[in-house]
Parts: sequence; structure tokens; C-alpha cells
Amino acid sequence: MNYSELAPPYIRAIAPYQPGKPIAELERELGISGIVKLASNENPLGCSPLATAAMLEAIKTIALYPDGNGFELKDALSKRYGVAHERMVLGNGSNDMLELAARAFLAPGDKAVYSDHAFAVYPLATQAVGATGISVPAINYGHDLKAMCQAAIERKAKLVFVANPNNPTGTFLTAAALLEFMRALPSNILVVLDEAYNEYLPAECCYDSVSWMKEFPNLIISRTFSKAYGLAGLRVGYAFADVQVADMMNRVRQPFNVNSVAQAAAVAALQDAEFVRQTNELNGRGMVQITQGLSELGLEYIPSFGNFIAFKIGDGMKAYRRLLELGVIVRPVAGYDMPEYLRVSIGTQQENEKFLTALQQVMNEKH
Ligand code: PMP
Repeated sequence: MNYSELAPPYIRAIAPYQPGKPIAELERELGISGIVKLASNENPLGCSPLATAAMLEAIKTIALYPDGNGFELKDALSKRYGVAHERMVLGNGSNDMLELAARAFLAPGDKAVYSDHAFAVYPLATQAVGATGISVPAINYGHDLKAMCQAAIERKAKLVFVANPNNPTGTFLTAAALLEFMRALPSNILVVLDEAYNEYLPAECCYDSVSWMKEFPNLIISRTFSKAYGLAGLRVGYAFADVQVADMMNRVRQPFNVNSVAQAAAVAALQDAEFVRQTNELNGRGMVQITQGLSELGLEYIPSFGNFIAFKIGDGMKAYRRLLELGVIVRPVAGYDMPEYLRVSIGTQQENEKFLTALQQVMNEKH
């Protein structure tokens, strides 16, 4: 019996998500230590001490099920962003938001639009429900919002995924461009605006998408505690949406999709604005360090608004493997149709230094 044949063809067609290589795995393979992982856009500062304290406290009641409605976390988000509880969806990472949106609104035969080189989970979430993904060619690796709007209308799509900034390209869409897109799109087409890296935006790029929700009930804003809040291992994300949209998404989630430790940590993390500020500052400095280093090595890169940057190296897979041998884990992006690029996450000053030194060695070996 070939059990894979029991799965629907659209499930069999899924190419699994390729996560960043864990440090322990490379340690086992090469028998080396002191490995630097700059492969998963994690926070090099860890997380807020307030979150750590909240987690330790929450562990004491770990035998109990979590609050399935996440009251305290919704309350903390509500106080921060002025959004009512019934407009919120909480999830096991913001990845959950992307899947819940697809599960709630797409059936086999329905269509979702996203950009070429956009985050890999958009096609995955679309395929997993048997819907059809429409990938729209990018402009300079960024979303072509006009073409995405046109494709969504012409192909009668139900959902559009927009990442701002996008991973792995780091490209950014201005508030004006997003508003123009939202105004041009019919209100019966839903938009998931994925703002996983929102907290990294420099002050001059910040925009208030939450305030747009009144004008655009078809807007779903997706955010995460995995990046600037440094809680990737806990898995907490959230979405703001129209009451009916949030209701549909909440119907398809697991009853306890956010664990109790994660809920407590997220509430505490939201109180620590200073931690997020330090994170942002370190990232800004690291971005300058890495872009300068890349320029000195004569390497092109895509200017990034996130906590990572994609740069052009030629044979991406070959350079990736060589960097692994030198104890530096970055991310190959051939799966994003960018075989000549690698993506590196911004780390601490020392981690960035180690990456640049290893990269210099890889470049020397090429010549
Ligand atoms: N959106 C984007 C653009 C991302 O890069 C990621 C993480 N790689 C996510 C969503 C999902 O992250 P999480 O589930 O940890 O919130």
C-alpha cells in the first residue's frame, strides 16, 4: 500500500517548508562548537526579562489547560492598539494566522494571490486547503501591488497575501502604496497584511495599519511575538480583523492553540517597550555593519527593512555549504527562485563579524 496515495493530490504536491538548520544538528554533523546561526531571523538579544519571569511563573500552573480565548493577552493587545477582543485571533505563531485565514476562507478551486519571492507559507497554506495560488512577478524583488490587485480581480481570487516587509527579500511597501492598493481592491477580496517584521521598521517608515481597519473591513493584519519580542520558540502570533472575519478564523483554530506559558510571556513582553527599542537599535547597527561588509566584499544586496538581508553570491547552495563548514549557518533561498542569493539574519556585533570573516574566506577561495 502506498499510503501517500490516500492523500489528496494537492497535499501530495506540497513541497515541505525548509527551516533554518538548527545549531545542534550542525554540531553533530561537523563535531565543531562555537557555531553562529543567522538563519531564522531570530532575536540575538533573546527576550525581555519580564517575559522570562512571566514564563517561570506560568509553569507553576502548567497542569491546567490554557485560557482558550486568551483573555489577558487580548486585553493587553486591546489596551495597546485599541482593538476590541472580538476583532482578534490569537495563534501558534503568526504562521497560524496565515493558515487560519486560508482554512476559513479558501476551499478547493478558490484562488489566493501572492508575490514571487514572498514568504513560503503563503503557497503552503493555499495548497494545503486545495486552493490555487497565483504568484505575481515582482518588481526589483518587491511586491508589484498594481499587478497583484489586477490579478486578484481578473482571476476572481478570494484572498491576497501581502508581506511588509517581505521575507526573504526585506522589501518594503510604503503606507501610500498599501492604501492605494486597498482602495483599488474590491472589498469582497480579503487581504492578509503580514507584518511579522513591523517592529523593525525605522521611524520614518512606520505606518498605522490598525487605523485603516475602519475603512477596509477586508483587511486582516497579522503580527508575531517571534521576531522583535524574541519569543520564536514559544509560538505566539495574532491577527486583527473585521468581527465576522475574526469569527470565521476562530472557528477553525484549535480550541487551545496558544499555550499558557506563551500567553503569559506575550502579555509581559508587550509591557517591555524598552526591550523592543534595544532590539531595533541593535538591528539598525548590525544592518549597517553587514551592508558595509558586503559592499567591501563587492557583493550586491537587496536593501532590507527587516532583521535580515539577502545578498548575491553566485552559487548560493555552494556558498551556504562552505559557510556551514566554517561554523556559520545562513539561509539558502533557491526555493524562493533566488538561487544566486543567500539570506543572513542580523545578529550581535560579534556574530555579524564572524559571518563577514567567514564570507571573506569563501570569497577568497572563489578566486
Ligand atoms: N511571516 C513572515 C513574513 C515570516 O518571515 C515569518 C517567519 N519566518 C512568519 C510570518 C511566521 O513567523 P511566526 O509563526 O514565528 O510568527
